[in-house]
Amino acid sequence: MNKKERAKFVGKTLGHYFAHPKIPLKHTSHYTLLIAVLLSAQCTDVRVNQTTPKLFAKAKTPQTMIKLTIPQIENSIRPCGLYTTKAKAIWKLSKQLIEKHGGKIPKTFEELEALPGVGHKTASVVMIHAFHIPAFPVDTHIHRCAKRWGLSTGKTVVQTEKDLKALFPKKSWEKLHLQMIYFARKYCPARGHKVKDCPICQDL
Ligand code: SF4
Repeated sequence: MNKKERAKFVGKTLGHYFAHPKIPLKHTSHYTLLIAVLLSAQCTDVRVNQTTPKLFAKAKTPQTMIKLTIPQIENSIRPCGLYTTKAKAIWKLSKQLIEKHGGKIPKTFEELEALPGVGHKTASVVMIHAFHIPAFPVDTHIHRCAKRWGLSTGKTVVQTEKDLKALFPKKSWEKLHLQMIYFARKYCPARGHKVKDCPICQDL
């Protein structure tokens, strides 16, 4: 199979295994989505989902968040790790949202990535899931699978993102990045995998 054919096969197989993937982070608004994604850096989605209810019970808008002190935010998000850095970022970005964006989440990569604590991956998740603007967030799972499946030789997530965007139609990205994450978590761990039992590599 050439690269295009492999991409087609991967897309079809993932569609079969995870037909309707849902974003795993619980949220009720664009703002709470942004905060949940920010908290997910170096933390599992399960832990983020266990943690956010405590924070969002106290504040689920930028206006209410800046009424909390940074130590109060830290206290609510402690289980997520890196909580001092994340708490500062949450407070500062909330202030910036109020001052520069009328309390709303901006709809461009440039504005999102200018917010404290928001990198390209976080911005991509918000763009595609909040606004359905094409983006392809690449995390470590996607990076690993793209390489194993011969879809990218990218040494960095930047290159992997570029390669995947060139291989898959834009309209598939929203589902595809979630399907890749779900597949990777369930079948394609960083260490230890059984090619003969695997629905992808055994046929690639
Ligand atoms: S065989 Fe399966 S688990 Fe192993 S790299 Fe391929 S897709 Fe991943």
